[in-house]
Amino acid sequence: MYFRPRTLNEAIDSLSRHGGQILSGGTDFFPALGDRPVASAIVDISGVTELRGISLSDREIRIGGLTTWTEVLRTPLPACFEALKAAAREVGSIQIQNRGTVAGNLCNASPAADGVPPLLALDAQVELASQAGVRRLPLEQFLVGNRKTQRRSDEVLSTVIVPRGLDQARSAFLKLGSRRYLVISIVMVAAIVDVDSEGWIRQARVAVGSCSAVAQRLIEIEQHLAGMKAQPGFTNSISPEHLATLSPINDVRATADYRRDAALTLVKRALEACVEAR
Ligand SMILES: Cc1cc2nc3c(=O)[nH]c(=O)nc-3n(C[C@H](O)[C@H](O)[C@H](O)COP(=O)(O)OP(=O)(O)OC[C@H]3O[C@@H](n4cnc5c(N)ncnc54)[C@H](O)[C@@H]3O)c2cc1C
Repeated sequence: MYFRPRTLNEAIDSLSRHGGQILSGGTDFFPALGDRPVASAIVDISGVTELRGISLSDREIRIGGLTTWTEVLRTPLPACFEALKAAAREVGSIQIQNRGTVAGNLCNASPAADGVPPLLALDAQVELASQAGVRRLPLEQFLVGNRKTQRRSDEVLSTVIVPRGLDQARSAFLKLGSRRYLVISIVMVAAIVDVDSEGWIRQARVAVGSCSAVAQRLIEIEQHLAGMKAQPGFTNSISPEHLATLSPINDVRATADYRRDAALTLVKRALEACVEAR
C-alpha cells in the first residue's frame, strides 16, 4: 500500500490506520532497501507542504520536517547556524541536498549523520506528531543508538526547533572523509563559541560525530573553555583526556586510534575557526 498524504493530519491518520514506513526524500530509505521489495505500507510525506521551510520567531527557529539541505543553505539564518549550513554543503552531492531532509537525517540516526553534531551544538529539540498529540524532546534524548531513536512508529518528526539566544555566536563544522567530496564521515565536529564584548568566552559548545554510536557533546571541553580569553591558541590546553567519552570503532573507513587522534585535531581547529571568524 502506498499513501501520499497532503497534510500532516492525513499523514498521521494513514500511519495510525495502516502503520508502515515514512518516505521523505528517499535518499536513505531506498539505499537501505537494496534489492528487497518494500515489506510494509509506505506513507510518502513529500507532498505535505506545511512541513516545508524554516520560520524564525523571537524565541526559536523552526525547521519543518520536510525541509531539505538546499533550503537550509538558501535561508538567511543567524551566525550560529554556519555550522549547520557547512554540514548541509557536505551532505552527499547537490542532488542529494535537493531531496534529502534534515528530519530524515535525524530519523535515520546514522552515527555518521552530518546534521547531528551542528544540531546538538545548537541545543536542538524535535517535535513528534501523532494522533496522541505533539511531544517535544531534546535531540540528545531523541537519538538513542546506532539507527535507534525514541520515535514511535505512529509519529512524524514534524519540526526541528532551535531555541534562540546564541544568534551572534560564531560556529564551524569540519568533516574528515577519505576524499573531499561525496563521502561518509570518518570524524566530524561542530563548534559554537560565544564571546563577550571584551573577548572572554561566555560559552563554548562542541559536538563530535562518527566517534560513538550517537554523536555527543563534549561537556568537559565546554566547561574547560568557559571564561578563557578568545585568542589564537586558546585550544592548546585541550588534551586527549577531554575526549575520553568518545568510543570510536575500527571499521573500513578508519581505525579507532586514528579517529581519536583526528577528533582532537578537528575539535581544536573548529574552535579556533570560530574565534578567527569574529
Ligand atoms: C549518495 C548519497 C550520499 C549521501 N551522503 C551523505 C552525507 O555525506 N552525510 C549524511 O549525513 N548523509 C548522507 N546521505 C544520507 C541522506 O542523504 C541523508 O541522511 C538525508 O538527510 C536523509 O533525508 P531523506 O529525506 O532522504 O530521508 P528518507 O530516506 O526519506 O528517510 C530516512 C529515514 O527517516 C525516516 N523519516 C524521514 N523523514 C521523517 C519524518 N519527518 N518523520 C519521521 N520519520 C522520517 C524514514 O522512514 C527513514 O527511516 C547520503 C545518501 C546518499 C544516497
